[in-house]
Amino acid sequence: MNYLLLFLAVAVGYFIALFLKKKELRNMEVFLAFSGAFLLSITVFELLPEVFETPSKSIGVYIMLGILLQIFLEFFSKGAEHGHVHLHSENKHFPWILFVSLSVHAFMEGFPISEENNLLLAIIIHKIPVAIILSFFFITAGYRKSTTLFFLFFFALMTPLGSFISTNYNFVHQYETQITAMVIGIFLHVSTTILFESSKNHKFNLTKMTAVIVAVILAYLI
Ligand SMILES: [Zn+2]
Ligand SMILES: [Zn+2]
Repeated sequence: MNYLLLFLAVAVGYFIALFLKKKELRNMEVFLAFSGAFLLSITVFELLPEVFETPSKSIGVYIMLGILLQIFLEFFSKGAEHGHVHLHSENKHFPWILFVSLSVHAFMEGFPISEENNLLLAIIIHKIPVAIILSFFFITAGYRKSTTLFFLFFFALMTPLGSFISTNYNFVHQYETQITAMVIGIFLHVSTTILFESSKNHKFNLTKMTAVIVAVILAYLI
């Protein structure tokens, strides 16, 4: 069931993008700000206490590794996991580099999903705007429909796959704390970047600020 929901988040994003007009994309920024704040809050409220149950400096090292991994991935994805795509290819071949970097990110974020936290919800909320923006880019850039659907289908499979592996393979279970710490680093970087980019030129925007505060309170309460 969880796997299906994670997959559907991308499908929903694609269908919204089909009917979206360029002007309406601006409304996405409020949704994006909400999703970033919600993901950051779940990370801080639930994931951090989980890995620091027995505090050690090595956990901090894994968190830093996650942050660095995400920075590295964004050299190739150009920020697609936090809400914008810059791809300039004339030939409209399959964008392998974008695909691989986004898939590594999506695969990793599936690992810490469990019954004990609300990460499933946070990732679904995080994925929908990202999928909308990604799909919208593919559609407007004139990629073939088969290319777009192939890309999104396998991208959508990555998070459920990560989640499936972490729950079903004992080998991975041994390294649960380390992997979760790395994913915390990934989330810290992605979510704070979303928040940073959502206040362009540090201009105050009441709607976005409200969305952020509501997200933090909701994440605290659930
Ligand atoms: Zn960016
Ligand atoms: Zn993500």
